[in-house]
Parts: sequence; structure tokens; C-alpha cells
Amino acid sequence: MICGGALCIERCACSQPKTATDNVVLLVLQYDIDSLKGSVPKDSDLEFTFLDSLLDATTAILAVDHEAVCLFVNDRCDESVLNILHKHGVKYIVLRCAGFNNVDLPTAAKFGIKVARVPAYSPEAVAEFTIGMLLTVIRKYHKAYNRVREGNFLLDGLLGFNLSGKTVGIIGTGKIGLLTGKILANGFNCKVIAYDPYPSPLAQGYGITYVDALDDLLKASDIISLHCPLTDSTEYIINDNSISKMKKGVVLINTSRGALIDTYALIRALKSGHVSAVGLDVFEREQAYFFADSSSKVIHDDSFARLLTFYNVFMTGHQAFLTSEALKNIADTTIQNLRNLEATGTCPNIVDKSS
Ligand code: NAD
Repeated sequence: MICGGALCIERCACSQPKTATDNVVLLVLQYDIDSLKGSVPKDSDLEFTFLDSLLDATTAILAVDHEAVCLFVNDRCDESVLNILHKHGVKYIVLRCAGFNNVDLPTAAKFGIKVARVPAYSPEAVAEFTIGMLLTVIRKYHKAYNRVREGNFLLDGLLGFNLSGKTVGIIGTGKIGLLTGKILANGFNCKVIAYDPYPSPLAQGYGITYVDALDDLLKASDIISLHCPLTDSTEYIINDNSISKMKKGVVLINTSRGALIDTYALIRALKSGHVSAVGLDVFEREQAYFFADSSSKVIHDDSFARLLTFYNVFMTGHQAFLTSEALKNIADTTIQNLRNLEATGTCPNIVDKSS
């Protein structure tokens, strides 16, 4: 391994001559390097360059001489970035995640750059984390943990409520939403209702009942959990108007994408008490902070800083996916996507304008 500052160049042991198509630049963190290295087959001639900076218009130049760029959720792959990547001969974007809202697909198509993703790696990882986050905010595990460590065993302020019998609204019943609903209906005796423009035939068997309109879910739910993708139509799906339709004291959980929630509307609802507790694994402007140690930096985003001050908001830094099983699946599918693209120019996990 040759390291130069933030840039690490990792070469595989394979003795076959390298071609330009063997090169992949990956913008990754240590846990990704470990799992990806473990997934490269011995006979593979893929060659990687590992970087620890996010992709944006200032770092895109680092992809020079590489055929593929491998991204995660907070890398930015907009028109300006794609222009630079295209100019330097990048042919493939491989995402180590399911969501592809950070890639400008029409521009990628215009340049003939193929985009592939990992459509499913472990819905269990995210669904189980969602349940943990919900239990944390309603039973206040995070507050109890700190209190007990300080030798304070008072129970004042730790009052929770039972999940059993509560109505939980699931927005988006794809792989993760369905599993979350299934756990809540079968494991916790919740009444689980759901809204999705494309209802799943599996829902009924899992104990999940669809409502006809989103408003019906907003009005009836004690707890609302977001599991839809971020698209033009779902951006700020939780806003002043939708919150006003929810029950007073509703609990919100978002392990999907930050921009599903208008943060300023959420802050207003927390201040008024309309929303009684929130669990967030994602934040709409998380790119500036997540996946890095910002503990010695001033937070300039006042809405982010304000959220962190609420006693009834529990936040994590986009870690719902982070299990060893998920990382292995992500790495295996990513390597397979690259090998398919290299061999045939396409792969089953391509996303395009119609996705
Ligand atoms: P999926 O594609 O299987 O399911 C998404 C569902 O949302 C689909 O059924 C779709 O019909 C539905 N949907 C689309 N528009 C909707 C709308 N307007 N209202 C209601 N439903 C709508 O996706 P998934 O694998 O279940 O993942 C869900 C989301 O979770 C992803 O888009 C991603 O943003 C997020 N995610 C987060 C993490 C994390 O670590 N926090 C990890 C993986 C995925």
C-alpha cells in the first residue's frame, strides 16, 4: 500500500497486465476499505485508488485516469462533477448504496456514463435500527444511559409509553418499510398502517394495512416512520402543512433521507409540542458534518445545531445501514457490478432516467 496524505493507492496482487478499464477510484472510509478488500476475488484485475474526501466539483479531478468512480450517499455527483468526470474518461459510477438521489442521471446519460447501485444489501440492518431508534426516543434509553453513568438513578423525566396498541404509520413500503412494519405489527402488537403509491402484495401478510391517502395516515398515526426514497415528489413530504394534520404529540422517525423533512418546520413543531419526540439518522444538510469528526468544529448550520439541543430529539450520523452483514453485501455487489460493467458494459443493477 502506498499512502500519500489523504490519498491511498491500493494495488491488487494479481500479476496480469493492467488496462485502463481496471482502475476504480473509490471515495471511502476505513470500514469500506476493509470490506471491499475482502470482497475482491483473487483472479480480479481491478485496481483501486482509495480516497477519504467526498466527491464534489473540487475533488472530481482526482478521478483522472480512472474508468469508474465509487460513491456513497453524501458524495455529490451533479452536472458540474459529471462534466469533470466525463472529461477525464470516467465511464462508470458505482454506488455503494441503494439511493441514487445524489447523481444527476439525465446528465450521466447524456455523457454515456453508466450508473449502477446496490439495490438491497440488508433491509434488516435499517429496519432493526429504526426499531431501536423508536424505542430509544419513547423509552429514553439515551437519557438513562447518561444518567446512570453519572450515578443518578432518579426516574423523573424518563416516563415513556407502550408501543403495544399504538398506531404506527409507515410512509413507503419497499424493502425497509415493509420489514419495519412487520416487526412492529408482529413483535410489538402495533396497529400498522401504510401509504405507498405502489402498494406491496406482501403487506397484508405482514399485518400492515394500506390507507388510500397520505393524509389518512398523518391523521391516524401515533408514530410515523419514513421509508420512501428522496425524489422531487417526496422532498419535504414532512412540512408545516403535513405536520398540522398529525396528532398532537406524534413521534417521528426518519432513517431514510434528511430532505424528506423540512427541518425548520420540524423545529417549529418541536417548540410548540405538536411533535413530542423525534429520531433522526439523517439530516437534510448532513453532507457538511456526517462521516467526519466535527467535534472540534463550530456548527454553522443553525437548524442542525438547534435540533441537537432538544431534549426529545435523538440523532445518529447515518449509521442505520452499518452492520457487518450489510457491509459484506455492499462490497460483494459493488465488486460484481464493476466486474459486470468491465466485462459487458452493463449490469443488472443499472439505474437510469426512468428508475
Ligand atoms: P425501496 O425502493 O425498496 O422502497 C421505497 C418505497 O417507497 C417504494 O415502495 C416506493 O413505491 C415508495 N414510495 C415512493 N414514493 C413514495 C411516496 N411519495 N410516498 C410513499 N411511498 C413512496 O427502498 P428501501 O430499500 O426500502 O429504502 C428506503 C429508503 O431508505 C431509501 O430510499 C434510502 O433513502 C433509505 N436508506 C437509508 C439507510 C440508512 O443507513 N439510513 C440505508 C438504506 C436505505
